[in-house]
Amino acid sequence: ASRAAAQTISAAFDEIATAIDGAADELGRLDAVAGDGDHGIGMRRGAHAGRDAARAAADAGAGAQTTLLRAADAWGDRAGGTSGVIWARILRSMAEQLGDTSDVTRTEVAAAVSAARDAVVEFGKAKIGQKTMVDAMTPFADELSERVAAGDSLVDAWSHAAGVAEEAAQETAALKATLGRAKSHGDKSVGSPDPGAVSFALIGTTVSDVLAQ
Ligand code: ADP
Ligand code: MG
Ligand code: MG
Repeated sequence: ASRAAAQTISAAFDEIATAIDGAADELGRLDAVAGDGDHGIGMRRGAHAGRDAARAAADAGAGAQTTLLRAADAWGDRAGGTSGVIWARILRSMAEQLGDTSDVTRTEVAAAVSAARDAVVEFGKAKIGQKTMVDAMTPFADELSERVAAGDSLVDAWSHAAGVAEEAAQETAALKATLGRAKSHGDKSVGSPDPGAVSFALIGTTVSDVLAQ
């Protein structure tokens, strides 16, 4: 049921906040290569605010949609930075695809992830290869949709998609950043992966572990 889905979402946010805490220094270091070094700080603020809001909503009996919307608003209010605005959009557009009263199906989850990717592209205008989180998010969304359409369980499909996202995030190391703050220092970014792609893949892998439990 959607309330069970809301508790899964809340549990996922618990693990996301913990994972981001552990990676924050590295994310900041990656962002300092060609950006302003605040990606770890912003992601921590956003993930903690999202976790607290999701837990409050889920424990009050909210469904999946409301739980994700509350997390989206909290993340956007607290995180700061481009990635904070983008993560609020990701969570909001996923929420809009999910109901509060009906069961959440794997087809709906895949559609929600694709809608989130579309929202990020619409907002930030990043093309594949411009060294942003879109470079991890697009292969993730596509793999998830393909595997769900082929009949894989959500756990299996998400797990494979997370693996694809991790690879894609590391492959951004070869690219030159041409968007966002990194664009003026894009050359310096070559050899080092995009911080937003790395944190996206980390969140994908973390959620995969929660779904597998
Ligand atoms: P800021 O750049 O405002 O300091 P962060 O450091 O938190 O914000 O986030 C930087 C990350 O945001 C980048 O590594 C990249 O993945 C992502 N990003 C920046 N601009 C865009 C964009 N136009 N589209 C998609 N992702 C973007
Ligand atoms: Mg930054
Ligand atoms: Mg910044």
